[in-house]
Amino acid sequence: MEGFDGPRVYSCYKCRTHVGLHDDIISKDFQGVNGRAFLFSHAMNIVMGALEDRRLRTGLHTVADISCADCHEVLGWKYERAYEASQKYKEGKFILERKKIVEENC
Ligand SMILES: [Zn+2]
Repeated sequence: MEGFDGPRVYSCYKCRTHVGLHDDIISKDFQGVNGRAFLFSHAMNIVMGALEDRRLRTGLHTVADISCADCHEVLGWKYERAYEASQKYKEGKFILERKKIVEENC
């Protein structure tokens, strides 16, 4: 093990429930509803809302809002399906809005 920083985690900004791991970040360069957002390969302690089709800047996607399992704050969304071939890599991935999560070392 190089260094000993421990795993960095991202938590819900309201209740500090852990929702994502730093190692699961695919991209920090996404656009959310309220500014920058991160794309995660996994998210935890979240509940999914109903699926709906949304036309985003990158084309039509089927998405579901994701909320904190503890305080129910909406933190982002999950890409369930992408219709454009170039966007398929997002399927099954999670967007967490930067403003809705806080980074912690544990
Ligand atoms: Zn919460």
